[in-house]
Amino acid sequence: MSLIVQKFGGTSVADPEKIRAAARRAIRAQNQGHRVVMVVSAMGKQTDELLRLATAVSEKPPAREMDMLLSTGEQTSVALVAMAIDDLGAKAVSLTGGQFGMKTDNSYSKARIRSIDTSRIESLLDEGNIVVAAGFQGIDDDLNITTLGRGGSDTTAVALAAVLGADACEIHTDVDGVYTTDPRLLPEARRVDVISYDEMLELASLGAGVMHSRSIEFAKKFRVPIHVRSSFSDREGTMIVSPAESESSPVSGAALTKDEARITVLGVPDVPGMSQAIFSAIAAQKVAVDMVVQNVGAQGKADVSFTVPRQELQVTLDAIEAIMETIGASGVTHDAEVAKVSVVGLAMARQKSVAARMFRALADAGVNIHMITTSEIKISALVPRDHAADALRAVHESFQLDQRPADAKTWAEIQAGSSPHADMDDVVTRLQNDALEALTLTDIAILEGQARVTLDGVPDRVGVAAEIFDEIGRAGIFVDLIVQGYDGQDGSTSVSFTIGQSDLEPAMKVAQSICQTHAMRDVRGADGITKLSVSGIGLRSHTQVGTVLFEQLASAKINVEMIATSELQVNVVIDSARGDDAKNCLRAAFADALS
Ligand code: ADP
Ligand code: ASP
Ligand code: MG
Repeated sequence: MSLIVQKFGGTSVADPEKIRAAARRAIRAQNQGHRVVMVVSAMGKQTDELLRLATAVSEKPPAREMDMLLSTGEQTSVALVAMAIDDLGAKAVSLTGGQFGMKTDNSYSKARIRSIDTSRIESLLDEGNIVVAAGFQGIDDDLNITTLGRGGSDTTAVALAAVLGADACEIHTDVDGVYTTDPRLLPEARRVDVISYDEMLELASLGAGVMHSRSIEFAKKFRVPIHVRSSFSDREGTMIVSPAESESSPVSGAALTKDEARITVLGVPDVPGMSQAIFSAIAAQKVAVDMVVQNVGAQGKADVSFTVPRQELQVTLDAIEAIMETIGASGVTHDAEVAKVSVVGLAMARQKSVAARMFRALADAGVNIHMITTSEIKISALVPRDHAADALRAVHESFQLDQRPADAKTWAEIQAGSSPHADMDDVVTRLQNDALEALTLTDIAILEGQARVTLDGVPDRVGVAAEIFDEIGRAGIFVDLIVQGYDGQDGSTSVSFTIGQSDLEPAMKVAQSICQTHAMRDVRGADGITKLSVSGIGLRSHTQVGTVLFEQLASAKINVEMIATSELQVNVVIDSARGDDAKNCLRAAFADALS
C-alpha cells in the first residue's frame, strides 16, 4: 500500500474551517487507498504570536524555554486536526516530535535532525490511523524539546517522507506551486511545472520562502520528489526533482533577501589564519555568513566584507568585537540597510555574459550594486534596501522569467524519458546512518590553469559593474567567479574575477581601459591560479565547512585569494603551486563527510 506524506502550512490550518478542510484532504487520500501521514504547522501566525509573548516577558528569553514555547503551536494544531478527522468519521492519532521519535542535536532554535524512529508511526498506520505529526520540533538526548528553525515543518515532512520511504511528499500551502520569484512581491512571476533540487535549494537559501532550505537538502540526499501545491484547490502544483525544467535558460528563478546586513572588518593583517579567526568566531554563534569578499589592500592589510541576516547583526558584531584585538584589525563598519537580490539557474554555468546581463538590468533600473558574489549556479548582488523591489523586478524582466522557456518540459514529459530509481542503492545506504542531517560532501577537486583580474578603487555607483562585464563579454571572454567588495581605504569597491589563463591578456586590456576611463586606482592580473572546489549538499547551512576549510588552509599557510560559496560548492581561489597540498589536506580533514 502506498504511503503519502501531506504537509499543511500555517495558513492552511489557520482556522477551524481550514483545519476541517485539511482533515478532509487527508481522509480523501486514505479513501483512495493510501497510508497517510500528515505534518502540520502551527495555526496561522501562532508562532509569531508566541515569539511576541516571549519578548514581552523577557528581554533575552533563554533558548531552551523559547523552543519549549514555540513547540506548543504545533502541539495545538495537530490535536485539532486529529479531532477534526475523528469528527469526520476516520481514525487519527496526533503525535509531538518527541512522541514520534524525532531525535535532534541540542542546538535550540536551529536543531538538526539526527534520527527518526518510524516504528510508532508505522504501527499506528497499520491500525488504520491517519498519523498527524507535529512539524518543526524534536527532542534532544536529554529529552529537551528543540525546534528546527522558522519554516522547519517542511523539513519535518521531507525527512519523514525519506525515512518512511513515502511514495509522495505533498507540501500543501497558500500558493499553487513554486514561482520564478515570490508572487506576492511580483505579480508577473510564473508558476513552474518542475524545478531541480539544486535550483530550489539555492533559491530557498537565498530567500525564496516557499520551502525551508534544509528540506531540500533532505529531498536531494534521499531522492524524495516533492509536490508543492495549493491546499485550497486540486490543481497540480510544482514538482521539485533532480532535473531542471529547461536545459537552456540561464536563469530559472530570482530571490530576494530583504533583511541583510553588511559587515566589513578593516585592516586585517593579510596573513593566513585571519579570515579563519573571524569566521570561526561567527560560526561559533551558528550564524550563516554569506557574500564573503576579501580585498587585499595596501601595507599587507586586508578588508574582509560579508553579509549576515539582519537579525543576526548584533551577535555577529559582538563576536567580532571579542576577537578584534587578538587579530589586530583596525575597525569594523556595517550597513544594516541592504538587501540581496539573486538569480539562480543550472544552465548559467555553461553560458557567457549571464552576470553582465543581470548587472545591466540593475544599472538600467538605477540600482547601485554594493557587493557581488557568484558561484556556478547563482549570482547575488547586494543593493540598497529601498531599491530591493525595483532590483527584483528588473532582473526578473531581463531574464524573461514571466515566459515559459521554449524547451521547458512538464513533469510527465521528464518522467516519460527517465529511468526511475537509478540510484536507490546509494539512497538506502545513506539512510542507515544515524545522522540524517550530517554534512554530505561529494567531491573535493582543483581546477588549474586559471587567471584572476582585480580592479581597485572602483567607484561605488550605478552602472560600473555592468560596464566592466559588458566589455569583458564583448571581448568574448568567459568569466567564472566574480566578487565585488568594500575597499576600506576610501569607500570605493574592489572587483575581482577569474577567467581561463589564455584570456588573461585580452581581459587585462579591457580592464586597463575601464580603469583609465573611470580613474580607478589600479588593475592587477595574475595567472597560475587554481580554483579549489568542495562540493556537496547544503554547504552554506553547514557552517563548519567554511570554518574547517579556513582552518586547514591557514595551518598549511595557503593564502585564500577569493571565496565563492553556494549550497552546492565552496570555491576558493589559491596559488597553483599549492593546489595539490590544499586538496589533500581538505580531503583528509573532510574524510568522514566525503561519500
Ligand atoms: P506555509 O505556511 O504553507 O509553510 P509559507 O508562507 O512558508 O507557507 O510559504 C508560502 C509563501 O512563500 C507564499 O505565500 C509566497 O508568498 C512565498 N514565496 C516566496 N518565494 C516564492 C516562490 N519562489 N514561489 C512561491 N512562493 C514563494
Ligand atoms: N510554525 C513554524 C514557523 O512558523 C514552523 C513552520 O511553520 O514551518 O516557523
Ligand atoms: Mg513555510
